[in-house]
Amino acid sequence: MERGNVGTCLQSRVWVLVCLSIIPSFHLTAQDYRAQALRILHTVPLIDGHNDIADAIRERGGLDSVNFAVNQPKLMTDIPRLRSGAVGGQFWAAYVPVTTMDSGPHPAVYALEQIDLIRRLCSRYGNALAMATTAAEVERNFAAKKISCLIGIEGGHAIENSLGALRMFSRLGVRYMTLTHWRSLDWAVASTDSSHRGLSDFGKQVVLEMNRLGMLVDLSHVNDMTMSDAIHASKAPIIFSHSSARALTNHARDVPDSILRLIPANGGVVMVNFNPGFVSEAVRVYGDSVAERARLLRAAGADSVTRADSMRAWESRAPHATLEQVADHIDHVRQIAGVDHVGIGSDFDGITEVPNRLEDVSKFPDLIAELLRRGWTEADVEKVAGLNILRVLRDAERVATELRGR
Ligand SMILES: [Zn+2]
Repeated sequence: MERGNVGTCLQSRVWVLVCLSIIPSFHLTAQDYRAQALRILHTVPLIDGHNDIADAIRERGGLDSVNFAVNQPKLMTDIPRLRSGAVGGQFWAAYVPVTTMDSGPHPAVYALEQIDLIRRLCSRYGNALAMATTAAEVERNFAAKKISCLIGIEGGHAIENSLGALRMFSRLGVRYMTLTHWRSLDWAVASTDSSHRGLSDFGKQVVLEMNRLGMLVDLSHVNDMTMSDAIHASKAPIIFSHSSARALTNHARDVPDSILRLIPANGGVVMVNFNPGFVSEAVRVYGDSVAERARLLRAAGADSVTRADSMRAWESRAPHATLEQVADHIDHVRQIAGVDHVGIGSDFDGITEVPNRLEDVSKFPDLIAELLRRGWTEADVEKVAGLNILRVLRDAERVATELRGR
């Protein structure tokens, strides 16, 4: 029951009894809610939709340069903090920079290297981590007290317009692909692109082949028309692996209500991003003002020292996002799309700033505790933590089996 219902409770003797039974919950402390959250997360796996540790490790020189078994203060993710955050499963992003479309290793090679790193990370720390490609494997690993490693490719440029490459990525254990990153492809349009295009015919073929393979179609990073086209083309539930609600923060990376309303019929899940610029309107507006300030200083011919001093003064006034704002986004997705269609997609180690009280992977229980404090039932909290994305994985597996049987 939600806390706002107390007045109506007093209308009958039965309800008085119900009310009396919940009154003690008003005296629960933050520690009580955290303890309750931890108890829930020991029975249901918390599955986060997006974490960029693979690229963060690559940037630091690779697996041999980072001991993932001990605390890594410069990172947001390591095994001790995954354990204290009660993480049950993690989609690790095989992130492919869009610059690989111009020069350097081919996007497909970069993606292969990221997948290789994730698989080696998972086997090197096999006492804590275990690969998973199905919902059943996630549940088996959870029962064995292992954190599931799931792989998502971030950026459809990784397939280099080849359905054969897409099929081989699936065989390597990739369970979702984000259709674009920050730059549009010829078959899907990125959120940063103002053109009125969505999925091309080939883009629709990519979506259907992903359905056939049981690979989730991830619509974080695409523009609204591509979101809508993919939802209508897909025969399986789609996901947003790391996107928040645009009604609360007017960022193109977030999901508008018009799309949230399409999710229940599709069966998908929106996994809410923690990026401060995506969850706090004040942070987003401030971010734009910083860019504008820098542009004006350059236009005025200010030298680099003056520019740096001026920007430092400006940046000292920066607003901060909070855990409560992330919870507001979860509440909003629930309100528009429904409690069966909301999840968590932190973007840890892919974001440079973090909300207050949500600094790293050890803080997931605090977010769950906040939802409990707001009156969420345990059953609903279990859905946002992991049951919704497990259902989506299972539905996609079922659709894949049906499509392959035809
Ligand atoms: Zn991203």
